[in-house]
Amino acid sequence: MPGRCIFAAFLALALVFAMLWMERRLVPPEEPLPETVRLLRDGEVTELPLEQYLVGVVAAEMPADFEPEALKAQAVAARTYTLYCRDSKRHADADVCADYRCCQAWRDGAEADPRVRRAVEETAGEYLRFDGQAAFTAFHSSSAGFTEDCAAIWGGAPYLVSVSSPENADSVPNYVTHAERSPLDFRDTLLSVSPDADFTGAPETWIGKITRDASGRVSEAVLGGAVFTGVKLRELFSLRSTAFGLAYEDGVFRFTVVGFGHGVGMSQYGANVMAAQGADYRAILAHYYPGTELVSL
Ligand SMILES: [Zn+2]
Repeated sequence: MPGRCIFAAFLALALVFAMLWMERRLVPPEEPLPETVRLLRDGEVTELPLEQYLVGVVAAEMPADFEPEALKAQAVAARTYTLYCRDSKRHADADVCADYRCCQAWRDGAEADPRVRRAVEETAGEYLRFDGQAAFTAFHSSSAGFTEDCAAIWGGAPYLVSVSSPENADSVPNYVTHAERSPLDFRDTLLSVSPDADFTGAPETWIGKITRDASGRVSEAVLGGAVFTGVKLRELFSLRSTAFGLAYEDGVFRFTVVGFGHGVGMSQYGANVMAAQGADYRAILAHYYPGTELVSL
């Protein structure tokens, strides 16, 4: 009965394919987390246990008296960010560095507050994954109502879009800050990066159109006829964020700045407010990194 043989062979083959497919679906390829991390600090590389390193990150990144669920969200974001830095090989001989402007802040966690230690322990091994890889879990201190879309600074990621953030002047110290510059200083600072700008007229005519993105932050400003990005202006005038207003009054240029940090990903003060309102760390992470999955090994 050749017909029945062919049918049986076909069935067997289909079964094998189905099993292979199921296996791929049910057991995604997954490496265990590294046990240690190579930390670059003051030009030296030290290898230390991952979870011990994370205690030092959370201690350096978030006040210990923040809500326990906010500390746990920070621990998971930091663990994920560590894996992301390691995977992206941004340092030749180390996984991460202790400079918050490059990787994330770190200090010796030996004397860390028990609340910080507990947040790391209670989330041990947990991290956020997107598309099979550790997510780029950027975080910052505080936002001005909405977080920044990653596309505005480093290029887009589906889980780093602008979302609401509940902190305000009541929940964040120094939420609104000011920076003042004399017309001379203002002009020279801008000319240092854009020599073609024209500041020959009266100072009150130097401020042109200011364009904001959907999160309310300055994307571009025309000053002295030249275009400057909000990110560049933040850097040039040491502003705490790109959520600022600019006016010329009483003979000085005055920036009024809201929030602190680049604004992308989790707002630490926002996480603290969410936790105080009853959100657990999973809800906080799902809010600030929508579409990522929490992996628990
Ligand atoms: Zn680094």
